[in-house]
Amino acid sequence: MSRIRLLPETVASQVAAGEVVERPASVVKELVENSIDAGARKIDIFVRRGGISYMRVIDDGCGMDRDDALLSLERHATSKIRSVADLEAVGTLGFRGEALPSIASVSRFRLTSRESNAVAGTEIIVNGGKIDVVRDAGEAPGTQVEVRSLFYNVPARRKFLRSENTESRNIEHQLHLQAIGHSQIAFTFARDDRLVFQLPTSTTLADRIRDLYGNQLLDQLLPLNDSSSTQIRISGLIGQAGLSRQTRAQQLVFVNGRAIESPLITAAVREGYHTALMKGQYPVTFLFLELDPGAVDVNVHPAKREVRFRDPNAIREAIVLSIQETLASSRADWQEKFRAPLPTVGGTTSMSSSEVKGGSPPCELPELEREFALRGQRSIEGSPIGGTTGVHPELVERVSSQTFAAPDEFGGRDRARPSTQPQFQIIGVLNKLYVLMENADGLVLVDQHAAHERILFEELRRRMEEQGVPSQKLLIAQTFELPPRDADWIEQNMSILQKMGIGIENFGPNTFKIDSLPGFLNVTDGAQLMRKVIDDLKSASDRSSPLRLGEDMIASTVCRHAVKANDPLRYLEVEKLIQDLLDCELPYCCPHGRPTMIQISNAELEKKFGRKV
Ligand code: ADP
Ligand code: MG
Repeated sequence: MSRIRLLPETVASQVAAGEVVERPASVVKELVENSIDAGARKIDIFVRRGGISYMRVIDDGCGMDRDDALLSLERHATSKIRSVADLEAVGTLGFRGEALPSIASVSRFRLTSRESNAVAGTEIIVNGGKIDVVRDAGEAPGTQVEVRSLFYNVPARRKFLRSENTESRNIEHQLHLQAIGHSQIAFTFARDDRLVFQLPTSTTLADRIRDLYGNQLLDQLLPLNDSSSTQIRISGLIGQAGLSRQTRAQQLVFVNGRAIESPLITAAVREGYHTALMKGQYPVTFLFLELDPGAVDVNVHPAKREVRFRDPNAIREAIVLSIQETLASSRADWQEKFRAPLPTVGGTTSMSSSEVKGGSPPCELPELEREFALRGQRSIEGSPIGGTTGVHPELVERVSSQTFAAPDEFGGRDRARPSTQPQFQIIGVLNKLYVLMENADGLVLVDQHAAHERILFEELRRRMEEQGVPSQKLLIAQTFELPPRDADWIEQNMSILQKMGIGIENFGPNTFKIDSLPGFLNVTDGAQLMRKVIDDLKSASDRSSPLRLGEDMIASTVCRHAVKANDPLRYLEVEKLIQDLLDCELPYCCPHGRPTMIQISNAELEKKFGRKV
């Protein structure tokens, strides 16, 4: 007796549904994608009880006639591709022809659809995959899908659903993705009969972000430098250095309009933010990649959440570069704020002279400076900078003492100074830590410790790149073996490692010998260090500085050598610190991604004091 049987159509659909319809949010995703593919300009979404009891998606797209509406519920029925060749150049979000039959097989399902020029529309009711009703319906042009009692006939699936709140949040996140990815379309979302958002047809991504997340976030985003190559176009907005989140929820990535999750891109983004991001934190990105449809395979995940790139390296390099350039170029904006002339002493820009009258006259600068200088007599040489905690004393001492040499004694660096000196006025130091200053834009607070870390870090990195790192002999040389792939990597990067101060050489097949390590590193176990280095660098980009490894080492050591809170600095030293900071490549965060300065604009102050609404 034959044991193999063809599955009945409804069972096959339910099995397939397992892949496509994981939870209510996946239903919403598929339905909204269909609406987008149908050319909708307006999509309304209503859900109740986390979508488990009710979901409804209404669009004003092209609609379907009765035959198509019936066909759309068949498995493998799609209007979007006709051949395997079409798969190479999919321009629509859907193409698998699986969503509608899958959803209909695990719910109580109702579809109404009408083409714009048709006299009447069609209504189809399906229960658990079985078509119960097909009739004419007088709906508005477009398509409406209602899904009730999801998984009512698949109890095993229902058990995997989370709380209504969690499922609602998943739906909302999914809708954010769609709304950000398609800012030209109007979206309305109501949950349990309460309006959550109503997004107008907008033209720009920035408008859409403002509508969804507010002005405060938008103000902290930078438009991505368009480093388009022939292969890839990158656009969108990303968080400025120092802006981070606890989760990846606001790390949005779109490939050809499709929201995707990609470990490759996540790693590239992280790499692009290197030293501009706190450990364990995630950047905010609204990253849009456009590439030739043939260069990306979208048919690797049943829910089309992942993609495969034909040339992953090129994609990674392009993203890293674009982010690095964007973060670095935003420095110009900052510097602009320190370039404009300060408001003259005796009256600020926004105060009329009558308002100033009667108040005490503002403090003259020289007076303030004198007073300031008296407060901190301790010179910087007495501070812990240049201590000997494991870092090569020569390297760090040279750098940190230069950092604070008075401007005219300063000779070690040949970096071009900006022609116009930054304009700022130091008001004082709060809590022996925060430097208060005024610039053209308003009040600036600088964390002197974080600022010094950034300055030391960039200076050490520059030296390392120019001169290499002095290394220190180990008492006993160490040998160690590595898996073949890692051994390969070491062999290819041998010369870079040596420049980094790591004395490493071949010592038999897949075996290496280390006899010296960078002097400024406080490690003794060379083999362990190498394993960690390989792990770190395998995920790093080829394009970033080959001395990227050194960056991590330096970042972890500068902290101990930077001026601390409670180290009183003299006026000149503070001024020098600020000047040096403004000269840095990434002045607004320390090498660990914490902010170095906070600007409170005049406009913000005026608002807070009720001078302006
Ligand atoms: P796919 O989107 O992969 O083609 P679906 O099962 O999601 O598969 O949909 C099947 C077909 O039904 C689509 O190809 C499309 O022609 C039609 N369709 C689905 N939803 C809509 C809609 N909202 N408006 C117009 N046509 C739709
Ligand atoms: Mg679809």
